[in-house]
Amino acid sequence: MRISEVRVIVTCPAGQTFTLVKILTDAGVYGVGEGTKNGRELGVAALLEHHIAPTLIGRDPGAIEDIWKFLYKGTYWRGGPIQNSALAAIDMALWDIKGKVAGMPVYSLLGGPTRRGLLTYTHIHGDSFADVAEKVLQQKAAGYKVIRAQVQVPGAPGVYGAEDANDPAYQQARNARLPYEGAWEPEPYLQIVPQLFAYLREKVGWDVRLFHDAHGRLTPIEAARLAKDLEPYKLLYLEDPIGPEYAPSMCRVRQASTTPLAIGEIISSKYEILPMIIEQTIDYMRCSPIHICTVREPAGGAVIYG
Ligand SMILES: [Mg+2]
Repeated sequence: MRISEVRVIVTCPAGQTFTLVKILTDAGVYGVGEGTKNGRELGVAALLEHHIAPTLIGRDPGAIEDIWKFLYKGTYWRGGPIQNSALAAIDMALWDIKGKVAGMPVYSLLGGPTRRGLLTYTHIHGDSFADVAEKVLQQKAAGYKVIRAQVQVPGAPGVYGAEDANDPAYQQARNARLPYEGAWEPEPYLQIVPQLFAYLREKVGWDVRLFHDAHGRLTPIEAARLAKDLEPYKLLYLEDPIGPEYAPSMCRVRQASTTPLAIGEIISSKYEILPMIIEQTIDYMRCSPIHICTVREPAGGAVIYG
């Protein structure tokens, strides 16, 4: 069996853009993979179409590891979020083909099921503490056991994760599919987040797990302060407290408190996260398997990897 065609598909159902690849073979079997990198969908598509697809024609689709190494190591430029997402799409499509040929679901080929279910969370944000608490209670009543809570920061309405949906500038940026440029001041943020969780514990109780995402905005010393100040509220974890450029300083955040730490979207390679696992400076790995270039975990969705 040989790869006969590689199609790159960019589609946008219900306002969400996806970058997909369809690998066809001369045996009539095909596989589909996803390489969506939010906000850079066309970058991944161009890489797939112009640089990767032509190199795959005529190759054995069953040689998944060989193709991965060829694409990862064979290029002069290794890694990066765009390239890793493109490689993940190819990897996923090839595993799809292998599963179809074997007549087995891919999870069986990778070792079989180990869980009967997965803990999932929902995200809420509000423009005031009362608004956040009301939404947490609604989601708790809907059955969620874990909820990520964000709140608008006074004087910084454009902070990612807690945008003001009524802000005309936000709506304009969203309609034009451009980044929303907001203000950012760490001090008001560092003060308001612990206050939010103190309020939430009083209003929603302790029988729901809460967590918060700092979206990689903080310096290590700021993140250390936030983790310490959040300690009394027993978060499931504090997500992306620092940016990837500070990654070696995660130990400084870790040493400041017992608030569990998670790393997520700021990492785009399994090699970047490996030292954090070895040194146990994080408790949860929240990277999209697509973005770190592997399909050996379930793809997509708001799943917590512990
Ligand atoms: Mg995040």
